Amino acid sequence: LGKQLNNALGQLSRASVVDDKVIEALLKELCSALLQSDVNVKLVGSLRTKVRAKIKKSLEEAETNGTVRESNKKQIVQKAVFDELVALVDPGQEPYKPIKGKSNVLMAVGIQGAGKTTTCTKLAVHYQRKGFRTCLVCADTFRAGAFDQLKQNATKAKIPFYGSYTETDPVAIAAMGVQKFKKERFDIIIVDTSGRHKQESELFAEMVNIGEAVKPDMTIMVLDASIGQAAEGQSRAFKESSDFGAIIVTKLDGHAKGGGAISAVAATKTPIIFLGVGEHFNDLERFVPSPFISKLLGMGDMQGLFEHMQDVAMANPDKQKAMAKKLEEGKFALRDWREQLTTLMSMGSMSKIMSSIPGLSGAMEGMSDEDTGAKLKRMIYIMDSMRTDELDSDGLIFMRLDKDGLPYALNKRAARVARGSGTSVKEVEELLAQARAMRGLAKMAGGMANASKQDSWAK
Ligand code: GDP
Ligand code: MG
Repeated sequence: LGKQLNNALGQLSRASVVDDKVIEALLKELCSALLQSDVNVKLVGSLRTKVRAKIKKSLEEAETNGTVRESNKKQIVQKAVFDELVALVDPGQEPYKPIKGKSNVLMAVGIQGAGKTTTCTKLAVHYQRKGFRTCLVCADTFRAGAFDQLKQNATKAKIPFYGSYTETDPVAIAAMGVQKFKKERFDIIIVDTSGRHKQESELFAEMVNIGEAVKPDMTIMVLDASIGQAAEGQSRAFKESSDFGAIIVTKLDGHAKGGGAISAVAATKTPIIFLGVGEHFNDLERFVPSPFISKLLGMGDMQGLFEHMQDVAMANPDKQKAMAKKLEEGKFALRDWREQLTTLMSMGSMSKIMSSIPGLSGAMEGMSDEDTGAKLKRMIYIMDSMRTDELDSDGLIFMRLDKDGLPYALNKRAARVARGSGTSVKEVEELLAQARAMRGLAKMAGGMANASKQDSWAK
């Protein structure tokens, strides 16, 4: 999806004027990408109408304000698309927040194999780290070995657990486990339930009965991202009988596309709280709408990157302020990009950081920390081979311009820098594209107020 949408947005940025034809082409591309990413057909249809209306409205507003120019029309359109996609995964409903000093009961539901047991353990580990006394209850008596699996997970993660090899009534086990842990004053009691292969009425009845017995503060639907188009129907069916208050989408680390997640939120108006991104207990990510969409659009995890930058900048508040101002004003020179990269190099897990840089996430997939570190170093070498005026520029200085002043190819400077740094022209081009993406996205994040400020690349 990312690649396709990137193409769509790329076409937009190459178009010399933004007219209805360009917008319709973008919408068409966007819809086909969403469909292929398993977003529900009806939803795509309504999204098309909404995005079109939003684009028109944004452009009209800019027109009346007198701020519309050919150069910022593209940003207005891009932002409209982005905002509508974000709105799709943000139902505007706050999920339940566990309260310290009381017994919060969480219950996981979902079909067999969705990842409930794994996710329950991940949640337990997560909340324990946050200082909650956490425990697990196994109310799955349907699948052979279910209790053993939970027991194994819990033991490994050092989480107290409850279950039974002899009791066959899941409602009774759930009730007993929750009662026991409530008495022992645990803060968070997580109840794992059984699934079936399909949405059978039997499963739904069991779910409802367990729910009545343990009265969960939050029921979480665990949804496997790899089921694709089925996500819509499945989440709707579960919502009808269990009225869950949160969704966790699992297996987003594989080839699964994110579209199912979008459909599930839209169908149930229920927020996603976490994403499962692997089989280990640590592979749980907090779900935040706008970085999720950025990632889907192939823009990298901007928020994550900003957070990393902020961590470092905390030690130097003046610098942080200066950088924030530069980003806001769209004055983000290659020199600033160099500084950011050097800073990032001094921090934590390389591949994780690199995957949050727009335009790099795809290229870095599957690379080791060592490889990404080496790649980062080459990027620094490139910038070290630049002259002062080049480093202080936005990068346009490396481009040949056509008669309309639009960049169409690299110039001799790029070849010189590639030679001097022992890299290739292609790498120089990549670096320039990344710095540009960085600036464009920062500006988008900074809102439209500053979008019309001078940026020679955005013509
Ligand atoms: P349950 O039947 O709903 O309890 O599902 P399980 O927790 O037993 O998980 C089924 C399979 O999916 C197991 O092999 C898990 O390791 C795997 N799994 C669960 N969550 C994830 C995830 O986020 N990513 C990946 N790659 N595998 C997962
Ligand atoms: Mg299970």
